[in-house]
Amino acid sequence: MEISKILVVGAGTMGNGIAHVFAQHGFDVVLCDISEEQLKNALATIGKNLSRQIAKGMLTEDQKALALSKISTSTDLSSARDVQLVIEAASENKALKFNLFRQIDDLINNDAILASNTSTISITEIASKTSRPEKVIGMHFMNPVPMMKLVEIIRGLATSDDVFDSIYELSKKIDKIPVHSNDYPGFIANRILMPFINEAIFALMESVGSVQAIDEVAKLGFSHPMGPLMLADLIGLDTTLSILEVLHNDLGDPRFRPAPLLRKLVAAGYLGRKSGNGFYNYSGDKPQPNKF
Ligand code: NAD
Repeated sequence: MEISKILVVGAGTMGNGIAHVFAQHGFDVVLCDISEEQLKNALATIGKNLSRQIAKGMLTEDQKALALSKISTSTDLSSARDVQLVIEAASENKALKFNLFRQIDDLINNDAILASNTSTISITEIASKTSRPEKVIGMHFMNPVPMMKLVEIIRGLATSDDVFDSIYELSKKIDKIPVHSNDYPGFIANRILMPFINEAIFALMESVGSVQAIDEVAKLGFSHPMGPLMLADLIGLDTTLSILEVLHNDLGDPRFRPAPLLRKLVAAGYLGRKSGNGFYNYSGDKPQPNKF
């Protein structure tokens, strides 16, 4: 089946980037969210990021206009019944995703492939909520999606070879590099990344170093382009906490227990870059490290 039209569910940090990349590569995209405001913000972010690509000489004004014309938005899932692929990028919450997949399975054309951009939740379990587990797969993009080449492709227990091959090839068509991961909590990327970020938060909590000192060590000592605390802010502290909770619960290993300071920040509404405050404050021109 030729994939030409895609439904992206969730228009937050990841959803807008996924819609951006597919539209830029000529796919028709319906971007769906429960919040009109998120949809409005997502279109504004996509416009801004396309302009940034023009400034870098990667895109022309005409290509930007064409990409934007490929994206429509909706708060109603049933407005995209005729898509060939759904990519779910809604909040990292098991119950929410299980419900969404039940709904999507009922509403969307029976031949469509259903992918989730989940960071940690079992693709096999998500697939079991649908009537088409062989057509359910993980497509885990990295943040920011327009810039990052990697996409982890996660096979659930029932994912068919045809669906795996078709999503693997599709990832190359949008200029990404697919890497296969089996279906265990956190897959490859977050199994490795999250303990690192979590340990950095414990180190901050125990005053081993300041926000700035911890991030400087990772940048200058390990050649990371950004430190783990700024990366947590970019991911979203609520999303980081949800990922750690799934890793902790599903692997049953205490080394994944979320740092209490992370819980405290999320409880206070410090969600990182998307809320304007996290380990850093984003109200000025340059992020300023907060003191803890
Ligand atoms: P986010 O909080 O920025 O956005 C989530 C969006 O989902 C919000 O706009 C919310 O309104 C919407 N939403 C909630 N319930 C919905 C529903 N029933 N129908 C439609 N939309 C709904 O979250 P995010 O960071 O974009 O994460 C989305 C998914 O991508 C999660 O599964 C997350 O684990 C995964 N992911 C995140 C990152 C990252 O760096 N943030 C990286 C890779 C994967």
